[in-house]
Amino acid sequence: MTDAPQALATEKEARDVAEDARETEWEHPSFARELFLGRFRLDLIHPHPPADEAEEERARPFMEKLQAFIDKVNSAEIDRTGEIPEELVQELRDMGAFGIKIPKEYGGLGLSQMSYIRAMELVTSKDGSLVALLSASQSIGVPQPLKLFGTEDQKRRFFPRLAKGAISAFALTEVDAGSDPANMRTTATPTEDGEHFIINGEKLWCTNGTRAELFVVMARTPDVEKAGRMHKQITAFIVDASMPGVGVAHRLRFMGLKAIENGVIRFDSVKVPRENILWGEGKGLKLALVTLNTGRLTLPAGCAGAGKQMLRITRKWANERVQWGQPIGKHEAVAQKLAQMAAYTFAMEAVAELATALYEKGGYDIRLEAAIAKLYNSEAGWRIIDDTLQIRGGRGYETAESLARRGEAPIAVERAMRDFRINLIFEGSSEIMRLFIAREAVDHHFRMAFDIVKPESTMKQRLTALGKSTPFYLSWPVPTHRDGYQLRSYGEFGKLATHVRYLERTTRHLGRAIFHAMVRYGPKLERKQAVLFRAVDIGSELFAMSAACVRAQMLKKKGQPEAVALADTFCREARLRISEHFRNLHGPNDENMYKLAMSVLKGEHAWLEKGIAAENTEMGDTMAQIDASDEYDRSSTLSHTLV
Ligand SMILES: Cc1cc2nc3c(=O)[nH]c(=O)nc-3n(C[C@H](O)[C@H](O)[C@H](O)COP(=O)(O)OP(=O)(O)OC[C@H]3O[C@@H](n4cnc5c(N)ncnc54)[C@H](O)[C@@H]3O)c2cc1C
Repeated sequence: MTDAPQALATEKEARDVAEDARETEWEHPSFARELFLGRFRLDLIHPHPPADEAEEERARPFMEKLQAFIDKVNSAEIDRTGEIPEELVQELRDMGAFGIKIPKEYGGLGLSQMSYIRAMELVTSKDGSLVALLSASQSIGVPQPLKLFGTEDQKRRFFPRLAKGAISAFALTEVDAGSDPANMRTTATPTEDGEHFIINGEKLWCTNGTRAELFVVMARTPDVEKAGRMHKQITAFIVDASMPGVGVAHRLRFMGLKAIENGVIRFDSVKVPRENILWGEGKGLKLALVTLNTGRLTLPAGCAGAGKQMLRITRKWANERVQWGQPIGKHEAVAQKLAQMAAYTFAMEAVAELATALYEKGGYDIRLEAAIAKLYNSEAGWRIIDDTLQIRGGRGYETAESLARRGEAPIAVERAMRDFRINLIFEGSSEIMRLFIAREAVDHHFRMAFDIVKPESTMKQRLTALGKSTPFYLSWPVPTHRDGYQLRSYGEFGKLATHVRYLERTTRHLGRAIFHAMVRYGPKLERKQAVLFRAVDIGSELFAMSAACVRAQMLKKKGQPEAVALADTFCREARLRISEHFRNLHGPNDENMYKLAMSVLKGEHAWLEKGIAAENTEMGDTMAQIDASDEYDRSSTLSHTLV
């Protein structure tokens, strides 16, 4: 292992690290995985897993306290000052909001993932900075990996502190290791006796890092040789902020989430005992990925919460605001947006709750569902906020404070927009989510049939692959009753049955389209991001449509038949988007676009950038204006910054 490797990882190294961390086996079924294989396994999600009424009853006292707390929070003040007052954090601690899922035996509330995401949905509908504090702590911070991979001893040592409100953080990202962890530079070097590791390095954008008591830190431990090749090892450690050498180098500030406690965290020869390793040496990245499978369920629920809030704002405003002799909601252009928003909000909640309910049911692999939920809801939520801002017009762009000053309702759409945008970047950017989903979407096809299309395959290899894959591919045109897969009319779905039949047909179409893409491009398919991403988007729309239909059906049975109209409108619109993706699957303009981008990169169109201000002109002024009191002493240890 190199202590301070300078060169960036090569593409091959980056892939090796990602592949080593990838979960390759599918022990449990997944509806989304089956979609990409061309099989519509409705039986895996329908009927919608029932609500756990006993759990809802258990969660009620906490949810009521949280609702009362959220209703009185002054988010404008938090946004303006860039700080969450300590009294608010203490109030959250006192109600157990930092230990929602921690088992009762360790002092937590012992509530389910569903209760947890509903709590986060509620908080997101009011305040982005508060949800970042709570969810970075519990979705990706110490409690989640501790629950999944901790030893009994580790659970006894850390859970009670966390349940009482010790804030935690997840430190993976570094300056050169954003989406690509192979560039990680932070090292954990074993001491001679092997009892400790010495951590050195700097982590970037660590949410809660400036206030955390406990961190999960990913660091490189010595490379190991496997099958004659050296493999990079990334290991997860629980690090206590009070350990000598842990320090906050900078508090970072952003476009939104103004009070997020995010920083550059420095680890300077921090001595960590071996027993603080989570799961095992070299398993850190896999731990991060598995943690994120469930961690990612929170953000989609938050997006649904934001969508609901926007819908409420828009409904009220589109009724109230009269222009050109009509409430603006009655002008068709606005009405279209309003309908789209309601349909999307319904689908977003359906996606988030279905993925979570499947996780709770157990015996189900949610890694693709969680990734789709994160991707779909963050992008749909962003469109909803954009439409809300448009419908609010000038008032959408004006700050809440300014609106209040001139006597209007302080509706903070511009803040919601600033706070929301990061959802498309962290916990896996939209592009990385699409790559992750695409990797799984093509995996089975490549494993079964790649030898048939690979130019260098021998005849024997081709015949073996043909024998292996024929039964699978033959089953597409004529669906069989195997594995619960059947051709049906889906009459029980009433008005939605037409969409469910479409889902069944189109799922087969998607499987075939992915197979054809493999035949057409062979090994080059993995570089065809535009093609793969369209296939991913079709799969994501199919998943969202399925979730919407199944949820509407459940709600109809519970006496809420209005849900059917929302699901129906959502499905009609999704079908249009899917047709568009299929029509352009092979992107007639993709090659041309790539060529143009390459010539832009080479500077061949730099002439287009003439007539504008010089770069970085504001930097000198900005640096001069920095208020020293807003920056941490670079040498301070984190424990000094704890309140
Ligand atoms: C407010 C905030 C909070 C955060 N909280 C945490 C935290 O608590 N802990 C933590 O560890 N990290 C955290 N992060 C880091 C966050 O997860 C990263 O920003 C994210 O992983 C993306 O990394 P990057 O910004 O370096 O982008 P890069 O990896 O540099 O990517 C830049 C762009 O290129 C795209 N891209 C990259 N690779 C590919 C590819 N192969 N194909 C196609 N497109 C590609 C990306 O999607 C992105 O659009 C936070 C960041 C922010 C801003």
